[in-house]
Amino acid sequence: MVTCVALVIAAGRGTRFDASLPKQYWPLGGAPLIRRSLLPFLAHPGVTAVRPVIHPDDRVLFDKAARGLSVLEPVSGGATRQESVRLGLESLANMDPDLVLIHDAARPFLSADVITRVIEALGAGPAVVPALPVSDTLKRADGTLVAETVDRRELWRAQTPQGFRFRAILEAHRKLAGQELTDDAAVAERLGLSVTLVVGSEDNAKITTTDDLARAERHASMSRITRTGIGFDVHRFGPGDHVMLGGLRIAHDSGLIGHSDADVALHALTDALLGALGVGDIGEHFPPTDPRWRGEPSETFARHAGRLLTEGGGEISNVDIVIICERPKIAPHRAAIVRQISEILSVDAGCVSVKATTTEKLGFTGRGEGIAAQAIATVLMPPPALGTRRV
Ligand code: MG
Repeated sequence: MVTCVALVIAAGRGTRFDASLPKQYWPLGGAPLIRRSLLPFLAHPGVTAVRPVIHPDDRVLFDKAARGLSVLEPVSGGATRQESVRLGLESLANMDPDLVLIHDAARPFLSADVITRVIEALGAGPAVVPALPVSDTLKRADGTLVAETVDRRELWRAQTPQGFRFRAILEAHRKLAGQELTDDAAVAERLGLSVTLVVGSEDNAKITTTDDLARAERHASMSRITRTGIGFDVHRFGPGDHVMLGGLRIAHDSGLIGHSDADVALHALTDALLGALGVGDIGEHFPPTDPRWRGEPSETFARHAGRLLTEGGGEISNVDIVIICERPKIAPHRAAIVRQISEILSVDAGCVSVKATTTEKLGFTGRGEGIAAQAIATVLMPPPALGTRRV
């Protein structure tokens, strides 16, 4: 059995992006970029183990991004990419795998096909690079003026993962330590190893600029899964001078009875969100028998559901709520309730709809015994394997 370890290099500082977050941890369609870069190796039957190489300052970020993934303990990289790769290779010296695949974490859309092509070609040679032919006409420039047209027929764009026989590339990196070669194939070439080209993939592009990130975001969002949940709730009228609806206090000649503040609209909404996530109902998360929740503002429950969604890499597409009662009249308060809910869920007001209806004096709501509410929530989730939290 051939052993093959993937080294995923994520130790760079990527100053071209927002300085507050290194680009390999940038969220992409609800999952951190590095998580997307690790997964194809974890899922590939030809890869024995995955070793991340990270910046020592990023340990907390990394642990969060890779939550639940069975990767080897990450090792710290060095000041240059070449040094980071060397340190990653040294960390595998005891394990001594037959093959190593060296991949840039900034390429989040690697397919299993490319990994397979690289591994297969390593059966015939010591070093393999996935690459694509150059299709644009190339110009050499002198300032802003074209000096000449370059023959592109023999030019290829090198990608990663670049594959190597482990002993050979470890030896090459040891001999050439301290240089700043831009890829590992260049290290191998320098020592005279023959490097084989296999076909890469356009999707496997490197994310370097914010334009690349925007393009990647469009690509990632296509793979998101739409989920919906519904909620329903009723509370009975009792003594009081106001009701809470959608987090808004509305003066009324009676109140609603409940363990919490009896906000039917937020209870239905919370259940709809929990339903979309498939994580039970409001009674399980906030048992009415628990004295902690007595008189609790219901926005606590809705915020909790919103937080679970965000932690799972999800995003609210829209929520729609129907409040069912004869009185109080909801229409004058509708816009304020929408504002209140959009603030509670930290979403744009355009994602929130609130409607009201009576039941033509029929049934318990018609007789003015209580208020009912229905809600539906539509959310966008990353594919299950990409979610950093199991939902
Ligand atoms: Mg309730």
